[in-house]
Order: sequence, then C-alpha cells, then structure tokens
Amino acid sequence: MVDWGRIDLVVFDVDGTLYAQQRLRRAMLLQLLADAVRCRSLRTLRLLRTFRHVREALGDEEATEFLALQYQRTGERLGCEPAHVRAVTEDWMERRPLPLLAACRYAHVDRLFAGLRLSGKRIAIFSDHPARAKVEALGLHADIVVSATDADVARLKPDPAGLHKVLAEAGVPATRALMVGDRMDRDAAAAHRAGMLALIRSRKPLAGVQTFRRYDDPVFQPVLAPAPAFAPQVAR
Ligand SMILES: [Mg+2]
Repeated sequence: MVDWGRIDLVVFDVDGTLYAQQRLRRAMLLQLLADAVRCRSLRTLRLLRTFRHVREALGDEEATEFLALQYQRTGERLGCEPAHVRAVTEDWMERRPLPLLAACRYAHVDRLFAGLRLSGKRIAIFSDHPARAKVEALGLHADIVVSATDADVARLKPDPAGLHKVLAEAGVPATRALMVGDRMDRDAAAAHRAGMLALIRSRKPLAGVQTFRRYDDPVFQPVLAPAPAFAPQVAR
C-alpha cells in the first residue's frame, strides 16, 4: 500500500490514465472514417497510424532528437513533408479530440484530484504529448504540467527527464513523489529511473509494481474526496 503520509507530490500520466484511451480512439475513428469518405482517401488514417508507430519506436530507442525525428521519419515513410505531418497530427491528435475528452474521463478522477488537494499534496502531469489543453478539457487542474515535447525536456518516456523537471519545479525529492500511469514500460520505468514510486492502472497484476483498477480502489481511499451528495429534494 502507498504510505500517503510520505507523499507530497502525485504525478499523473494523461492518455489511458486520466481517461479511457480506447473509447476516445473509437470516437475519433468515426470522425476519421467520415473524413476519409469525404476526401476519398485513407491518407490521414495512414499518416496517424505511421506517426504512432514512429513515436513508439523513438521511445524504445530513447532517441535524443525525437522532436524532429517524429515528423521526419513519418514523412519519409509516406513521402510527404515533415511540416505536413506536424500539421495533420496536431489537428487530429491534439485539437479535434478535445471536445470528446470529458465524456471519456475515468470515474472518480475528479474526487482523487480534489482529495489530494484537500490533503495538501501537489498534483503534476507528465505526458509524452502536449497536455495542458487536454487536462483543461478533462475538467481537471494540475499545479505543474510537463510534456515530453517541452523544449527543455525533449525526451520521451521511459527517459525520466520530464520527471526531473517536475520534481525540480515542485521542489519535492523523488522519495516523496508518486507516479500514476497506465504503462509499465513507460510510466513505471520512468518513475523507477527517477527514484520514484509508481502505481499502474491495470486489470491484471504486474510484476514489480503496484497496480490499481479504479480510482475508488482501497489504495486511494485515504486521499479520495467524498462523493458529492445527492441534491436535496425540493419540498412541494
Ligand atoms: Mg498513458
């Protein structure tokens, strides 16, 4: 169990951690298919899929130039300009999902954020993607938001560079911080390299890390704000 008395800072991943990523992807796929029919082309779908594979490989490689390489490599594979890759991915991965995010937010995340704040703990975000607008669209507030794409980070997980930035900004030692994520090979790996404890959202137990299924699991009970009471009935 997490000893919450020893935790001053909780760092959350975003995609798949604060909201159901598969649900969002299904909703976005409908928009993409409508776009493909309208344009009579699968180019956008193909570009986004290639971009995801390229980024995944860059994370595995721990590439130091990933900010440029993510657009260059995708462009090379598809025969288009890096600037085009950038424009399409920013549109389809960062802007268009925003209105759909709130409906995909995991239950009780808001209660956990509220409870952590009531307990005097600070909340940070560390994502491989730009995260400020997403966190806002999810109706959440974090004290610190750091992304792998920040110029002074420029490293994908599992590189702990982003966590080092979060810890420095918060002024909290790694031993008093907790990372909450959904990927063992990215979130837990980055946390462990930074000397932090990790909690991973997973249906199945994972070797070497504590897991949880939901935000109202026993592990969060000490820091979970009460569920909002039902509105009182108006007397007639
Ligand atoms: Mg994630």
